[in-house]
Order: sequence, then C-alpha cells, then structure tokens
Amino acid sequence: MRVMRKEASSKKSTIYTEHLETFNRAADLIGMHPRVRLELEEPDFEHIFYVSLDVRDRLVPLDEDEAARFKDLPASSMKAGDALEPLANGDFVLHRRALLNADITVREGVIRIPKRGLFRMVKGEPRKFKAYRIQHNQVRGPYKGGIRFHKDVSLDLFKTLAAEMTWKTAIADIPFGGAKGGIRIDPQAYSKEEIEHLTLRYMYKLKNLMGPFLDIPAPDVNTNAQIMAMMMRQFTDGQRMPHAFRGVVTGKDVRIGGSEGRLKATGQGVVYCIQEWARDREFQLRGARVLVQGFGNVGSAAAEILHDMGAKIVAVNDANGTIHRDEGLDVPALVEYVHQNPENLKKTVLGFPGAAAISKDDFWKLDADVAIPAALGGEIDGNVAETLRAKVVVEGANGPTTPDGERILAARKIDLIPDIIANAGGVTVSYYEWLQNQRMEHWTEQEVNTRLERAIKSNFAIIRDISRNRPTKTALYDSRPYCIGKEIDMRAAAMVLALKRIEAHYLLEGFSQ
Ligand code: NAD
Repeated sequence: MRVMRKEASSKKSTIYTEHLETFNRAADLIGMHPRVRLELEEPDFEHIFYVSLDVRDRLVPLDEDEAARFKDLPASSMKAGDALEPLANGDFVLHRRALLNADITVREGVIRIPKRGLFRMVKGEPRKFKAYRIQHNQVRGPYKGGIRFHKDVSLDLFKTLAAEMTWKTAIADIPFGGAKGGIRIDPQAYSKEEIEHLTLRYMYKLKNLMGPFLDIPAPDVNTNAQIMAMMMRQFTDGQRMPHAFRGVVTGKDVRIGGSEGRLKATGQGVVYCIQEWARDREFQLRGARVLVQGFGNVGSAAAEILHDMGAKIVAVNDANGTIHRDEGLDVPALVEYVHQNPENLKKTVLGFPGAAAISKDDFWKLDADVAIPAALGGEIDGNVAETLRAKVVVEGANGPTTPDGERILAARKIDLIPDIIANAGGVTVSYYEWLQNQRMEHWTEQEVNTRLERAIKSNFAIIRDISRNRPTKTALYDSRPYCIGKEIDMRAAAMVLALKRIEAHYLLEGFSQ
C-alpha cells in the first residue's frame, strides 16, 4: 500500500489528486481497510463518448474592422423577425422561415438587420461534443449525480465531482452512491432546440447505463428541470410502463413527478447549515451581512431564504459581474430580474436597478459575516482567503475553496462549512423525490422541509461532534460511533463520517470474488 501511494504522489497534481488529499487524510485517521481504500480511490466506471448535433445556420455579428467594409450595405427586411432566435453569446439562429417574404441584400455572405447591425451568415453543420458519465461508487445504492453542460469540464473534474457525490450521499445517509457527468459545451452559444437535441442524444447513448435502480441524474450547472424532463422522456420512450421509471432522473418539475421543495432544496440545505452554525456561535442571523457568489439555482434560493429571515444580502457576484448595495439588495426583485425576465438572456445580476457595479476583487473584500460561494470550483484561493472578512464560508458550490485558501481561512480562524454537507440538501430531496416516485406519492413542501431540516441538522451536528471530538447521543442523532479520539477540521470530519458509513458496507458485506 505504502509503495503504491508513493507512486501516486510522484504523478503530477490534478484537481482529482488534490481532492484525494482529504480522502487520504480521513482514511488514515480511521485506519481504513486497505482494500476498501483501493475500491474508493478510483471510480467504478469512466464513460467517455461523443454526442453529435446538427447545428443550425447562424448570424454572427461582424467585428468592427470587418463592419467598416460594409457600411453602405442596405438593410434587409425580414418579415418573420421572430424567426431570428437570439443566443446569449450575441449570435442569432437563422431559421429558414426568416426568409419567407423577406426583402434581402446579401454581400459576401454579410447581411444588415435593422436595429441589430451587421452579421455574417454562417452555414450550420454537424458538430461533435465530448461527453462523460463517471460512475464512482454504488456500494450504498444506485449511482447518483448531476449533469453539467459547461465548456471547462474534463475527465478529472467529473471524477472529482462523482467522488464528491459518493461522500455526500453517505453524509446525507441516503441509499445512493456517486456519479457525475455532462457535456463539454458552451450552452450560451446554442439554441434551446439544439440543447434539447444534444440532451436527447446524450441520454440515448447512456440508456443502458441508466435507470431508477442503476444511475440517476439530476440538474447541475446549466441544466434544469426541463432538461431532466427530456432525459426522462428519452429513457421512458417505448417502455411498457413508463410511469414505473419516473425515478430515472430527479429535479423534475413537480407536475411530472418532481418533489415539492426540490427547486430550492440545495439553497435551503445551505441555510439549515448556517442556522446550526449561528446557533452554536450564538450569532444573530437577523441583520447579518451576506455575500453570495453565483445567482443560479443554489445561490438565488439561499439568498431568498436568508433575506426572508431578515439577513442582508449586500453583494452578489456572477459570471458576468458583481452588484453591491450596502443596505442589502431587494432579493425578490433581483430573483425576478434574473430568472423571470426573458430579456435577460445571460440570467445575470448585472444592471439590476438600485445597486452599484463593483469588481470581483472588491466583492470578496466587502464587510460581511457570511460568504456563500455558490458558483464554480476554485474561487476562494489563497488571495481571496487572505482578505476575506466573513466569519464563515459556507460552500454552496462543489469545491469552491482551494487547499491554499482553506489553509489560510483556518489560520485566520474563519469557519468553513464544507460542500459535502453544505450543499447536500439537493441530493437529499432528490432521494425524497425518488421515494415519492417509487411509492406513487406526493408529499407537501412542509413534509419535505421537515425531513430535510432534520437530516441536514443532525448530520451537521455529527460532523461538528467529530470535529471537536465530543461523542454525543441525543434523541435525534448519535455521533459516538464516528468520533476518532482527537479534534480535526470540519472537512476531514465530514469525510470521516462518509468513509465510516461507506466502509461498513464493505466490511459487513465482504467482497464478491
Ligand atoms: P446554475 O447554473 O443554476 O448557476 C450557476 C451560477 O454561477 C450562475 O449565476 C453563474 O452566472 C455563476 N457563475 C458561473 N461562473 C462563474 C464565475 N466564474 N464567477 C462567478 N459566478 C459564476 O448552477 P447551480 O445549480 O446553482 O450550481 C452552482 C454550484 O452548486 C455548482 O458548483 C454545483 O455543482 C453546485 N451544486 C448544485 C446543486 C443543485 O441542486 N443545483 C446541488 C449541489 C451542488
């Protein structure tokens, strides 16, 4: 074992090997069985494949230099103006119906659209995209994990996120394993219809590997309930009893088998953790100052719930910019501005009336009590951690704090609530959704949240007890089997809980030979 670990450490460091540092630390702390360690060090299966798509014709804006050559080009009138579909990256999809009854002047493939400017017509053609599904571990139940559509995904990233799901489902104590997957694509450059075709193709290729008792996707970055509905349809098409397979994906719309409370569940879980932290620190959340990074599913839900509790969301940073209002933002209005506004194609907080635009650097330096990174990984690095003024970092996103960042936060005595418990609310309610699908039931939002609160708060308390080495039994939880006889940091404590729960399966069930 020692020899093999040495070999591994001589390899170059990647996001996955970095992730394994916490795993190795916790495995050492609990004296994990060497064979179990080997089973968990690498995923069960790494599926890498390609999905192809017929990309539609495009109108792509000309850059300034090129545009000068076409300044005298007469404007074309397209009667079917709505057939020009705007994309978030500034291009338009050119549907053929746009040309019906149109009066058009084209020179060298360039066209002028009134009020929109000069565009090059680019012929659509088939394109292929790299796709992934990493099935990390299923010893505790079916593989479970989100689908991400993003331009920066990689095998290493998905391995990391899939492993995180294995730990997270164990911490949440739900009978699932871990998986993650998606497509390497910039969704802002594609239309809804193109994304639909790609989603269907992705599920088509994975059909044999998916199922309510095999592998269950859910939404992640740039995917949502609509994408889950398409995946479910693709999977159940042709099944004799399609309703029996509704649990093949979670995060569905409530009208087609989704759970009440699922949409906000991850943000809600983040807030339950913050409440537990505040209770322990005797900190008053009413009036607390909060920074939120990412205003998508997780960030906006956490912000809304905290706002309702009387906290002040003083600034929000997203992929396109940062807004700041020292007296606190009007969060319901911001949610409407970002999520219910068809004009806001990028779904950005930028331009929100009544707030000032500031730089990302300044965002992290603002006076605040609670910082919630709820965007992508690696955002709180050493530099950010050096100047952060918050009392606690609550990891809504997966892996938002780098190892450097974490060391500095610890040295500065800033508390950290690690992702595997902080954002476990989503997968926990996904399990409730799956249960409701199996039982053909529909629970109320109150039932869902009562269960979720108990699950998150009791597992959070176990992790805190492990961290402080305070074995305790209460009416709600028992941390005695998990404490290891010394104090450790919260991230290691969370991993100890996960690994002890996972290892029990191998030790009690043994290995098939
Ligand atoms: P989303 O696509 O709904 O929103 C992502 C948000 O992050 C957007 O506001 C986007 O503008 C912002 N963002 C992207 N790149 C950024 C950058 N470089 N700087 C600042 N902001 C940036 O995604 P989501 O579902 O809210 O997921 C956010 C994070 O939470 C991810 O790390 C995801 O893995 C994690 N997570 C999500 C769930 C869930 O249920 N959705 C569950 C667990 C964990």
